[in-house]
Amino acid sequence: MKAVTILGSTGSIGVSTLDVLSRHPDKFSVYALTANGSVDTMFEQCQLHQPVIAVMLETNAAEQLQHKLTEAGSQTQVLSGEAALEQVAASADTDYVVAAIVGAAGLMPTLAAARAGKRILLANKEALVMSGALFMHEVQQNKATLLPVDSEHNAIWQCMPVAGEQRYNFNDKGIRKIILTASGGPFRDADLSTLEDVTPEQAVAHPNWSMGQKISVDSATMMNKGLEVIEAHWLFGLQSDQIDVVLHRQSIIHSMVDYDDGSVLAQMGNPDMRTPIANTLAWPERIDSGVAPLDLVQAGRLDFSEADFERFPCLRLAYQALDAGGTSTAILNAANEVAVAAFLQRQIRFTDIARVIEQVLNEVAANDAGSLQQILADDAAARRHAEALTR
Ligand code: NAD
Ligand code: MG
Repeated sequence: MKAVTILGSTGSIGVSTLDVLSRHPDKFSVYALTANGSVDTMFEQCQLHQPVIAVMLETNAAEQLQHKLTEAGSQTQVLSGEAALEQVAASADTDYVVAAIVGAAGLMPTLAAARAGKRILLANKEALVMSGALFMHEVQQNKATLLPVDSEHNAIWQCMPVAGEQRYNFNDKGIRKIILTASGGPFRDADLSTLEDVTPEQAVAHPNWSMGQKISVDSATMMNKGLEVIEAHWLFGLQSDQIDVVLHRQSIIHSMVDYDDGSVLAQMGNPDMRTPIANTLAWPERIDSGVAPLDLVQAGRLDFSEADFERFPCLRLAYQALDAGGTSTAILNAANEVAVAAFLQRQIRFTDIARVIEQVLNEVAANDAGSLQQILADDAAARRHAEALTR
């Protein structure tokens, strides 16, 4: 029996994780569930999964939840605040921590799980983008196990020569490059001149995946793929010129590894996050995820095309930040979070997202990313600058 904490249980990844867990009550128990403010969803999750602890970031939300649970006669204890998130992530009573908070808010609790040597099922790519070197150091230092939930990285990890072994550097393994696939999002075929007028509703309507709002916009700009290039750099120890992106509109191949001998290994499946979630929960074994078997005849064809930087300037900016190094990727991430929120609030246009990020990258100085303090300081500076540009 493994006890699981889900950071961000009310989100898209959190809900998919609970679905997989509920299929295997003999293997997993729920230790803690956490969320930002969605009391009703959290209440239902507590009723169904009976965690030992539920954390709501907001105090008001925690009070409301506590009230509802007490009335319902629940045993679940409710905590609130950022310290409580770190506490449940590092608790001796949890074995696995699913990092499924969106954005920079996930960094501290995920780091706490790394420092406590947990098995981390990482969906929160922003944590690695912000603090890759430091995060990987904590993972190795504390013998944590870091398993990628992001479907591309999970695919690559499954195609690696030593999948099943715990290592994060594949430089000496005869790999020419890795190829991240991208669906291209809702605007992959749109006339470039129409992107200026795209609405938030259009941007979050992803053709293949159902996800949270922020990552849906990131998929439309392809900043998501850019963040994934950076994530892959840290997870697999490969340089940016060994990390390619190719458009693959069906989202059946989730990514590939291209070896020196000409072999290209791919992992395939229906686009459903329960597959990588089940893979990381059960590793090194395999369990049912609830995902329908892949029907290749029905899928019919697999198409590939180039990911072009003119249509997707955010992808270019992510490579640029990765090559610049230091806190550049934290600055990129912070500017993106602010720009995406401003777009969702209708303060800026879709095409302004990349413009804001580029300007922030040019105008906020990057530093060495060796300390958490420096990373958080540059994240804050980038947010201030981006907010000034989007107001
Ligand atoms: P979501 O918006 O659906 O859910 C986010 C969760 O985080 C919610 O439970 C919310 O309550 C919680 N949260 C939000 N802000 C918080 C804060 N400040 N403090 C504490 N908790 C907070 O997001 P999602 O789509 O599930 O994505 C979660 C993460 O997984 C992101 O980093 C995303 O990039 C990554 N990811 C998602 C998918 C997907 O299919 N949704 C795929 C790959 C990777
Ligand atoms: Mg992904």
